[in-house]
Amino acid sequence: MEIQFRGKRALVTGAGKGIGRGIAKKLVECGAETIALSRTQADLDSLKAEVAGIIPVLCDVEDFETTRKVVQDLGPIHLLVNNAGITRLDNFLDFSMKDFDDVLNVNTKAVFNISQVVAKGMVEKGEGGSIVNVSSVASSRALDQHIAYCASKAALDSMTKVMALELGKHKIRVNSVNPTVTWTDMAAFAWSDPAKSGPMLAKIPMGKFVEVEDVVNTVVFLLSDKSAITTGQHIVLDGGLSTS
Ligand code: NDP
Repeated sequence: MEIQFRGKRALVTGAGKGIGRGIAKKLVECGAETIALSRTQADLDSLKAEVAGIIPVLCDVEDFETTRKVVQDLGPIHLLVNNAGITRLDNFLDFSMKDFDDVLNVNTKAVFNISQVVAKGMVEKGEGGSIVNVSSVASSRALDQHIAYCASKAALDSMTKVMALELGKHKIRVNSVNPTVTWTDMAAFAWSDPAKSGPMLAKIPMGKFVEVEDVVNTVVFLLSDKSAITTGQHIVLDGGLSTS
C-alpha cells in the first residue's frame, strides 16, 4: 500500500526526539511539506541536518498564547500530529500540583490549543484534513505512579472523540494512536528499571514492546486517505496487552 502526501502540509509537535521525530521524517519521505515543532534547538538543528526538506519551528507548546500565534502564522495545515508529551512519576499521595499541571498542560491542553487553531484553518479552507493525537494505553489502564499521565491521556481520548464528532461535517477526521511502552527517551525515564518493565512485558502476548516504526506506520495510515472512513477511533498498539 503506497501512501503519498504530495501537495499536503503537515505539522508534527514534539518532533525533536523519539516518536515525533520518526513521524516527521516519514512524512517528508511521503512527500508532505513537513513542519517539525519542538522546544530544543539542538534537536531541530540535527533533524534539519538529517532531513534538509524539513521546516523546523522552535516553540514550547506549554506557552499557550505564543503557540497560538506561532501556529496561526504557519498558514494552512492539512495533516496535524499532536505528539508532544511529557510524564512525571510519583505516588498518588505525594504527587505535586505543579507536576500535575505540567503534564495536563502539555499532553492535553496544548492539544486543545493547537488543534483549535489548525482545525479553524481547515474549516476555512474547506478541503478537510486529518488529525492524529498520540495517546497511550495509559488512557484506559492504571499505571503505578502515572496519576497525571493516565488522566492526561484519558482526557485526550475524550477530546479525540468530541473533535471527531464536531469536525466530521467539515471532512476533518480525528483519531488517536495508543501505544504501550515504546523505546524512546520517555520510555527510558519511566521503564528502564527491569523490575517495572519485566512484569509489563510478561503481560504482552507478542513478548515485545513497541518500536517507533510501529507507531509511525499507524500514524501515517491514519493521516492518509487509506483510512478515509475512520474517525473518532483509538488505535491500540500493544502487542495484545489489552487482551488480558
Ligand atoms: P520523547 O520524550 O522521546 O520526545 C518527546 C518530544 O516532545 C521531545 O522532542 C520533546 O522536546 C517534545 N516536547 C515535550 N514537551 C514539549 C513542549 N512543551 N513543547 C514542545 N515540545 C515538547 O517522548 P516519546 O517520543 O516517547 O513520546 C511522544 C508521544 O508518545 C508522547 O505524547 C507520549 O506520551 C506518547 N507515548 C509514548 C510512549 C513511550 O513509551 N515512549 C508510549 C505511549 C505514548 P524536549 O526533549 O526538548 O523536551
